[in-house]
Amino acid sequence: MEFAYDDQNIFAKILRGEIPNDTVFENDHALAFRDIRPQAPVHVLVIPKGPYVSLDHFARDAGADEQAGFFAAVAAVCESQGVEDGFRAISNARGDGVQEVPHFHLHIMGGRPMGPMLAR
Ligand code: AMP
Repeated sequence: MEFAYDDQNIFAKILRGEIPNDTVFENDHALAFRDIRPQAPVHVLVIPKGPYVSLDHFARDAGADEQAGFFAAVAAVCESQGVEDGFRAISNARGDGVQEVPHFHLHIMGGRPMGPMLAR
């Protein structure tokens, strides 16, 4: 599969410092920031700094250092955001996944019971 990355997407602009964000954690390979429209008391987005469109793109093409840095950021977010009672991690991809921003991101949501996995 071909993955075409659009560097005008809003998370690319955040990574370039062109628009502000509410940063929770950052390392060499990843940035974590609060979702602008939170759907839970904790709603943080973790994104790689590299140009990956979706989870499957990142999983296939990111290097080991990028993947390790990304998951280190996930760990730091879970450690710092008070989700000891649990959380939900979601990554939407493409049309069927109803992905709004075409830069891979993992939603970390918690701070309340998250309910059934999917609305029916
Ligand atoms: P999705 O691509 O459907 O997984 O969701 C994209 C998420 O990005 C949504 O939850 C939006 O609320 C969030 N979002 C969009 N723009 C911003 C922004 N400038 N800062 C933080 N979160 C954003």
